[in-house]
Amino acid sequence: MFDYHMHSVVSFDGHDTPAAMLQAAAQAGLKEICFTDHIDYFANVEKQEWVFDTAVYNAAYDSLTHDAVKIRRGLEFGIKPYNAPQLREDLKRRNFDFVLGSVHFVDELDVYYPEFWGDKTVFQAERRYLEETLACVQAHEDFDVLGHLTYISKARANPAPRPVPMAEHRELIDEILRELARKGKGMEMNTSGVDRCGDFLPFEPYFRRFKELGGEIVTVGSDAHTAGRVGQYTDRACRILKDIFGYVCTFENRRPIFHKL
Ligand SMILES: [Zn+2]
Ligand SMILES: [Zn+2]
Repeated sequence: MFDYHMHSVVSFDGHDTPAAMLQAAAQAGLKEICFTDHIDYFANVEKQEWVFDTAVYNAAYDSLTHDAVKIRRGLEFGIKPYNAPQLREDLKRRNFDFVLGSVHFVDELDVYYPEFWGDKTVFQAERRYLEETLACVQAHEDFDVLGHLTYISKARANPAPRPVPMAEHRELIDEILRELARKGKGMEMNTSGVDRCGDFLPFEPYFRRFKELGGEIVTVGSDAHTAGRVGQYTDRACRILKDIFGYVCTFENRRPIFHKL
């Protein structure tokens, strides 16, 4: 019923128009969606094509309405341990309802591709990704929810995609979840992992642990880059969150709204 992570053509890698995404959301019976277009900075300042243009964003979304689907306007910011000031700057562009903070780069390398993997084992790649994620959540204050905590699972270069086993990285994962809870930040159940590595990013036990450590804010997102994936598996994700938390969150003007499931 809610999809809080999607990319239209406003994102460099989105394929469909906001209107097409919205239409798909209505057809899927979603009550509320949030567009979360990419702002991801490369270390190379000459190469910033992953950063959307504010005028394009405003033109795409400000007049978009639907009788049955509430539309929220957010972004997905590529967090790095040192770029909290950049996020603060980008938040001056306009009012956003929701800020996903996501780790896409580790040591300035895109973890989706072999450039990051090199000869790392799956375990080593997971470990480096989680270490970087911890550094990011420690350094950042201005995001609302951590996107796809176990994104490394669905990297194209991952030779053996699997849901990241909590038991193999327990202390590190606990530190991340504890830091999120301490800061009053949320965790996303990203459904795009289901087809790629067999489960949500991250999957159920992470949310149970998050709750044990004091976490309260949880969202669900498909990470759709095409209209066809809007709302995909979000009902299944909500059923799991219903069992653990009894609710799922949406955001308005950066404030969480808790919806009883
Ligand atoms: Zn992402
Ligand atoms: Zn995304």
